[in-house]
Amino acid sequence: MHPFATEVQELSGQNLSRCYQCKKCTAGCPTVSWYEWPNHGVVRMIQRGMRDALLGSKTIWMCVGCDTCGTRCPNGIYLGPIMDALRSLARREGRRVPEPAVLAFHEAFLASARRFGRVHEATMLAAYKLKTRDFLTDLGVGLKLFAKGKIPVLPKGIQGKAEIEKIFRLGS
Ligand code: SF4
Ligand code: SF4
Repeated sequence: MHPFATEVQELSGQNLSRCYQCKKCTAGCPTVSWYEWPNHGVVRMIQRGMRDALLGSKTIWMCVGCDTCGTRCPNGIYLGPIMDALRSLARREGRRVPEPAVLAFHEAFLASARRFGRVHEATMLAAYKLKTRDFLTDLGVGLKLFAKGKIPVLPKGIQGKAEIEKIFRLGS
């Protein structure tokens, strides 16, 4: 196996060598139309060690981690953790991210989860809006959700925050 494939396999916990290119993962993916390559192509590119192409791609930032691919895959391969591993490598290596708004959301989400142990939507969205300087998009939806009490004003803490912090330290 190519060293890049071994690295991604270890980071993601997914057994890439079991993929036989049946394309079921691609057929069910709700975000594949935004990818440069289909899901099964991403797996093949990893197997071939195409590190630069993948780590600089927008594909790895468009996966929403819904797990549809993994539940369809006859070999139990989940692309979500694989995309997570690729994003993590891209950030560690300081790669340019072609979708800055997605990166801003990603960072705001993770910072909120790290700070409170779970995501607090109000502060996460505020951080995201400050980063992107886009204050008006989705404002109407946000206000409606807020009026219905779906976006709590104050964050709720959790038990086991130390464990969450440990996970973040392991991943950095
Ligand atoms: S569904 Fe699984 S075996 Fe089929 S192409 Fe996708 S990852 Fe490979
Ligand atoms: S986890 Fe990612 S790659 Fe898999 S189906 Fe969902 S969006 Fe597509």
